Amino acid sequence: MEMPKVTPTCYCGNPTKLNMSWSNDNPGWRFFGCKKFGSGFRKLCRFFSWFDPPLTPRSQIVLLGLLKKVRTLEDARKRERRTCLLVIVFVTILLFLKP
Ligand SMILES: [Zn+2]
Repeated sequence: MEMPKVTPTCYCGNPTKLNMSWSNDNPGWRFFGCKKFGSGFRKLCRFFSWFDPPLTPRSQIVLLGLLKKVRTLEDARKRERRTCLLVIVFVTILLFLKP
């Protein structure tokens, strides 16, 4: 992954942190934000700057479709693991119950 050579300074005067957005509008897009954002810091610093250039509408649709497929496959895998574990437990119980 391409990393920034110079990070911008936020309104607090500190170097910013490179984060990744997982919103539906900007999936996987990186941005600079304050290191203290969301840490309960009293004076909220709302510095925000995109690192990646904007996506074309077509790329955004393709990327969202791929993300949806990945999430669907991950969910299916979790369900399969759960089923497999239940089968193992069931077979183990049956083995111990065998006279
Ligand atoms: Zn800040």
